[in-house]
Amino acid sequence: LEEQYRQSQKMESVGRLAGGVAHDFNNMLSVILGAAELSRRKLEEGEPIDAYLEVITNAAKRSSEITRQLLAFSRKEVVSPRPLDLNQLIRESNKILARLISEDINLSFTPDPGLWLVSIDPSQVDQILMNLAVNARDAMPNGGRLSIETRNLRLTGDCSHVHPDAHPGDYVQLTVSDTGQGMDKATVEHIFEPFFTTKELGKGTGLGLATVYGIVTQNRGFINVYSEPGQGTVFRINLPRLADQADGASGQEQAAPALSG
Ligand code: ADP
Repeated sequence: LEEQYRQSQKMESVGRLAGGVAHDFNNMLSVILGAAELSRRKLEEGEPIDAYLEVITNAAKRSSEITRQLLAFSRKEVVSPRPLDLNQLIRESNKILARLISEDINLSFTPDPGLWLVSIDPSQVDQILMNLAVNARDAMPNGGRLSIETRNLRLTGDCSHVHPDAHPGDYVQLTVSDTGQGMDKATVEHIFEPFFTTKELGKGTGLGLATVYGIVTQNRGFINVYSEPGQGTVFRINLPRLADQADGASGQEQAAPALSG
């Protein structure tokens, strides 16, 4: 719990800081970009210095992209949760996801046809899917399988073995798994921290999973991660079932070991 508290404090201060800095920083970047592009126009084609200016331009563009992500992370977006069928949303996102990953990654979706509804802002689910898909893609540079699954989950009794944040009740479980490079235990411990990244400079911001974590906890859900170096990674996201929908419908009782969360 203390760890969770520290995590959310950290997220909050990071958010405030980021929001303040990113805006000014972005203005300076457009000055750099503009000046570099003007200089390039003044040069004759093929002058050696043009290559340096191109490096400046590309780095500034990449920096703009990072500040854009920072702003998105820090912004307290107004969310409007509504009853949502995750299966339907995933089907609608499928094309975008397929375009996001490379051709030698096989994308599959296995929906539970009797899936319960959840209450969440659809754009938040999109963000979860995008971030997990991008990470899966980066973990599978030589191709592999990206599988998305949904199912109902009913937790009863003491469920602290499932996750410290898990309470008895009905959940809709979204599983996103890949056959990529996986992670060792030390890495898994840090993945939800803002700015934690193992990707090379300029490739990752370390904000993807911090965003996912924020969305899941905001919606009173919990997330488990199972990963094995060389084997792949499984993210299991559990969102509470839409409250007034509960009837006697059957869910699977389950007790998977919680590795992290
Ligand atoms: P970023 O993708 O910008 O690095 P994230 O917060 O999305 O930031 O991820 C943090 C780190 O978690 C990644 O740098 C990577 O080391 C690890 N990671 C996340 N998803 C996966 C995955 N599917 N397979 C292997 N490693 C992963």
